[in-house]
Amino acid sequence: MKDTAIVLAGGRGSRMKSDLPKQFMKLGGVEVLYYSLKAFELSRVSKVILVTGEQYAEFCQKEIVEKYGLNKVESIVCSGKERYDSVYNGLKNASGSDYVYIHDGARPFVTPELINRLYDEVRKHGAVIAAVPSKDTIKIEDGEGFVKNTLDRKLLWSVQTPQVFAYPSIMKAYEKMMEENHDDITDDAMVFERYGRGEVKLCEADYTNIKITTPEDMIMGENFLKKFQ
Ligand code: C5P
Repeated sequence: MKDTAIVLAGGRGSRMKSDLPKQFMKLGGVEVLYYSLKAFELSRVSKVILVTGEQYAEFCQKEIVEKYGLNKVESIVCSGKERYDSVYNGLKNASGSDYVYIHDGARPFVTPELINRLYDEVRKHGAVIAAVPSKDTIKIEDGEGFVKNTLDRKLLWSVQTPQVFAYPSIMKAYEKMMEENHDDITDDAMVFERYGRGEVKLCEADYTNIKITTPEDMIMGENFLKKFQ
């Protein structure tokens, strides 16, 4: 069985207000991207496709992959304009895989244990995503800044990555999506829900599996690192 991780590092990080994309900023003295690549290295996943901007490919190869001996990274492919374009490029380079693990390179605290749990779950369900029960109450607005209604918190989950799918089904779903207007797509499970067949299983993950997005996330990240070490 061939399980392939597609690790995304093609974002520009505009919300971080930094010229350096967040996945290349240093956390505990090492690039943010290193941590998730290392977690896949220590997991049952057999290979990794890294997706990044053309201008960062050499840096990733020399300063991350070779420097830290990340032997599972088989190729570095070009990112696209939007996240889903980057995922699609990764998928096109993953032919022959049985399962694909789509992961944000800006989520450094994914663990080999979570990846291995997803490995077991995807074999039972075909599509499985890391998520945590929502701690916050979530409200829908009416478009004018007023609350329209409140969702039942017991049923709400905050969704993370990795999101894991049987390869042929997510590839087909992405191909269909690319033919249509898809501006509202915010995660890969949404592509599967809309264009694929079958259900998506939630796999309870950890609240520490945050996505580094804004400067305060780096402060949280430094604290999590201390906890893990
Ligand atoms: O921007 P956002 O926080 O949604 O990015 C999530 C992940 O997707 C990040 O790891 C980022 O590097 C990646 N990404 C990408 N290509 C894009 C946009 C984002 O690989 N065009």
